[in-house]
Amino acid sequence: MITGKNYIGNTLSANGSVTHHSINPKLNIPTDVPFYEATEEEVNEAINLAWEAFKEYRRIPGVRRAAFLNAIADEILALDQELIDAYTTESGLPEGRAIGERGRTVYQLRTFADLVSNDEWRENVIDEANPDREPLPKDDLRKTLKPLGPVVVFAASNFPLAFSTAGGDTASALAAGCPVIVKAHAMHSGTSELVASAIIKAAEKTGMPNGVFSNLMGRGRTVGTALVKHTNVKAVGFTGSISGGRALFNLASQREEPIPVFAEMGSINPVIITSKAINNRGEDIATTYASSITLGTGQFCTNPGLILTVESDKTNAFLNSLAEKTVAIEAQCMLGPNIKKSFVENSASIVEQKGVQVLGTIDGKLEANYAASHVVTVSGTEFLANPKLHQEVFGPFSLVVTCSDENQLLQIVNGLEGQLTGTIIAEEEEYSELYDLIDALENRVGRIIFNGVPTGVEVSPSMQHGGPYPASTDSRFTAVGTGSIKRWVRPVSYQSFPKELLPTYLK
Ligand code: NAP
Repeated sequence: MITGKNYIGNTLSANGSVTHHSINPKLNIPTDVPFYEATEEEVNEAINLAWEAFKEYRRIPGVRRAAFLNAIADEILALDQELIDAYTTESGLPEGRAIGERGRTVYQLRTFADLVSNDEWRENVIDEANPDREPLPKDDLRKTLKPLGPVVVFAASNFPLAFSTAGGDTASALAAGCPVIVKAHAMHSGTSELVASAIIKAAEKTGMPNGVFSNLMGRGRTVGTALVKHTNVKAVGFTGSISGGRALFNLASQREEPIPVFAEMGSINPVIITSKAINNRGEDIATTYASSITLGTGQFCTNPGLILTVESDKTNAFLNSLAEKTVAIEAQCMLGPNIKKSFVENSASIVEQKGVQVLGTIDGKLEANYAASHVVTVSGTEFLANPKLHQEVFGPFSLVVTCSDENQLLQIVNGLEGQLTGTIIAEEEEYSELYDLIDALENRVGRIIFNGVPTGVEVSPSMQHGGPYPASTDSRFTAVGTGSIKRWVRPVSYQSFPKELLPTYLK
């Protein structure tokens, strides 16, 4: 049952008087339950509990943390239809997506459980002593990875389950041995509370210390700011806007003890389609990309927001077909009124730029939070001259840039801001001409896709979800896949240690 309260460790708490409601975007009405914003005292209590819990939790063996993560997955599944209903009500996303995202969330938790069931993930290095070394003897040195401490996770608006309360950030931090305090997203506070109740049940059933997890409500910046500034918080995970991620990054670096903020933010995910590919299979590419642009109402960080082509006989026919097919897909609901407002403003501000032509958009009046998909085009010369055209429009929107030749296309790729992904659509006979493009993309993105779509981020050890700024604040790390655990640990070396005093996995 959704109560509207915070979880301060294992206790439900609502001491404040500031409340908010999440919104049912399909009906455009607030949901019933008021959510109580955590007070300053509640924020401090959650962090202090996490700090105390850390002393015990960091020493709990991996197999027990694995049991905790698996129990969270079980408890999430046990919430059954209540969770699916809260998700669809608060996000406007369809039930199929809710079930799929729950599956991904459960899979992530179980994957991290498997990972920490043994200590291989710690990348232990054992460098034995050599007393006979000349001119100086060599000491025994052993290195391992240790958890940072309490981690604050900001739930993402566009993935109420997989990148939120028990999403990848939380699963990886708990796996690493870090307690987690979630700042629930105001747009899906009910979903967050239900998932938090599952985590708390799992923590109690598997004997985890009180404070290993807390879930705090809030809307506006007060709760998030207080969390990031607190001395006992040691790292932050964030998915959302560039302005939000950057503000939190700045706040964290201005602390007396700066801490890492792993923020995954904006991306326009350039897609390069060669003339030969358009010539040979333009219709198929248009069909595939129409569905990628509109998938999840375009509310994916990997949405293909920028398509780069070179002028050729068939380019215009391809552009028109892409626009027709995109607009033919029925308008869908966005996550909420604020996201819809930003979509309308940001798409309008691109459309009004010099040289931009609308190839297709859904005409006529739509229901309140439904989005009119847009495919627009501009020349490579205008794109190079106008940085405004490089900005993300979060939603079903794609800007197709028609370049005068391959050199201009390469110049555009080299001048892009950091991106999560880059995609190349090309023919086999062109492979030998692609090296410069691949080189340029490698320098700008975290993941390069060949003859595919950027939407769809596999949870796998080989996944890189993160890229040069502003795609993320630290391109050396991934936010998806088992590698994401590395964000919450730091290396420690033990020199000349007696075996009895070493952690078991270093003996
Ligand atoms: P957001 O505005 O960045 O907010 C995300 C979370 O961070 C919320 O919990 C918010 O708290 C908190 N926050 C933001 N700025 C903060 C600050 N200065 N200090 C403290 N806390 C702060 O993102 P959103 O609400 O999810 O969506 C807004 C826009 O972000 C979208 O329209 C879209 O453009 C972009 N977005 C991008 C991606 C992506 O993957 N690229 C994903 C989601 C959203 P409060 O709600 O309490 O203020």
